[in-house]
Amino acid sequence: MLDVGRHPNLELLAYSEVEKVEGEAGNFKVTVRRKTRYVEEDRCTGCGACAEKCPTAVPDAFNEGLGARSAIYSYFAQGIPSTHTIDPDHCRQLNGKKCGICAKTCQAEAINFEQEDRIIELNVGAIIIAAGYDIFDPSLIPEYRYREIANVVTAIEFERLLSASGPTEGHMDRPSDRAVLAEIAALEKKAKKSQKALDKLEKKFDEPSAAFYGKYQAGEYEGDEDRKKWADKYASHLKIVEPLEELKKKAKRFTVAKRLAFIQCVGSRDFRFYPFCSGYCCMHSIKEAVIAQEHAPETTSTIFGMDIRAIGKGFEEYKIRGGNNSNITYVRGRIAEITEGPNNNPVVTYENTRERKVESREFDMVVLATACAPTKGIGTLAKTVGVELDKYNFIKTSSLSPVDTTTPGIFVCGCAESPMDVPESVAQASSAAQRAAEIAFQSELEKEKAVA
Ligand SMILES: Cc1cc2nc3c(=O)[nH]c(=O)nc-3n(C[C@H](O)[C@H](O)[C@H](O)COP(=O)(O)OP(=O)(O)OC[C@H]3O[C@@H](n4cnc5c(N)ncnc54)[C@H](O)[C@@H]3O)c2cc1C
Ligand code: SF4
Ligand code: SF4
Repeated sequence: MLDVGRHPNLELLAYSEVEKVEGEAGNFKVTVRRKTRYVEEDRCTGCGACAEKCPTAVPDAFNEGLGARSAIYSYFAQGIPSTHTIDPDHCRQLNGKKCGICAKTCQAEAINFEQEDRIIELNVGAIIIAAGYDIFDPSLIPEYRYREIANVVTAIEFERLLSASGPTEGHMDRPSDRAVLAEIAALEKKAKKSQKALDKLEKKFDEPSAAFYGKYQAGEYEGDEDRKKWADKYASHLKIVEPLEELKKKAKRFTVAKRLAFIQCVGSRDFRFYPFCSGYCCMHSIKEAVIAQEHAPETTSTIFGMDIRAIGKGFEEYKIRGGNNSNITYVRGRIAEITEGPNNNPVVTYENTRERKVESREFDMVVLATACAPTKGIGTLAKTVGVELDKYNFIKTSSLSPVDTTTPGIFVCGCAESPMDVPESVAQASSAAQRAAEIAFQSELEKEKAVA
């Protein structure tokens, strides 16, 4: 990616959208909206000082909402360019409140609240669509209870939990436990505030609140309005600290997830959603199970699938190595349902087709290998660019020319065309670049001929 950023023949227009495409192969006019970042790209050094000081916390989309970022942010650490961006939906200053802390912090004077979108026009010979895919929404399959059971997560969420730069720094902390820890932090903040108010009253009456409250309840201060206020404050304080202590006791028992279940073909090979195989999910489940076991050697993983499609050089061997060295068990069976057992543990009920039995097993966390779905904006993009979609809403191509769209001079690569893994996407990108270069060279030759 760094090479792309530095390449003299490549211009990156990040945070931009194609609005209009006119013309034909060899001579397209493309209108691009460069969305405002409210940060001057040529001044911003990406130091991150603004993000550290920004007081607004927003769910972090890059971490699948499992962590928080500031209203001024860089989408992810290694992004090119490293320029920060202000999120206009959450920035206090842009929503009429007094703030501007980022502008006061930025030594490069890069913040510009007056910056507006810019429209630019490009003249290009060929176009390549590489708009990728979206994660299938597993809440459409009610029996998996995604979003109802906290410890049922998608594979992409699990990847963020596994990542050393993710919200748990690579620890397999369970979402249910993280929710309790967040509740403890919120209650501690409240308790600190109410204790501060009680401290003043204790000083005023020269008595600890607990001792006073016992006497108050026994009727000692009847008719004393000041002491009634104190008693009410103390009662409210108890309503914070008592559940807080219970939660703290519960949190002492938390451990990282050690019994993992991976459920394959979630939305894929399913005639209710996508009948096709998404191609990469068997391998990413094995990869995630192997990495989880590297993080905590006692971790065991069960991968439930109709079959494991380890298609590619060395993939079958990787699968077998996972079974031999990384505590992975492969179970052939479709999942009937997931329910919630004790300690927020997901319980998986499935048909073990080898044993011809219906079985139930409890896990610490369940990971759903979701289908590769067409990206949400693909309909608008296809219309803007002027290409057709196939019956699943991927960009339409023919099997004989897998990177040619229905419009000459416009090509496609990667998951925008169909589900595929990274090496296949890269190979297809090279192929699309070659096809685009043919068109560009042809039009340059024609221009030269016309001049001569
Ligand atoms: C959990 C998980 C783990 C995986 N692990 C692996 C793995 O270990 N190895 C492997 O080989 N594969 C893995 N894959 C598959 C891999 O993610 C895909 O093969 C790969 O991302 C496809 O690349 P792509 O460039 O086609 O699409 P994407 O990676 O989706 O990139 C498309 C880009 O286009 C942008 N975009 C979309 N619409 C527009 C628009 N209208 N205008 C401008 N930009 C737009 C998107 O924001 C995105 O940045 C995994 C997939 C999942 C879900
Ligand atoms: S906007 Fe300023 S403070 Fe923020 S990352 Fe860029 S240079 Fe640093
Ligand atoms: S790659 Fe595996 S999990 Fe993914 S759809 Fe195909 S068979 Fe199912």
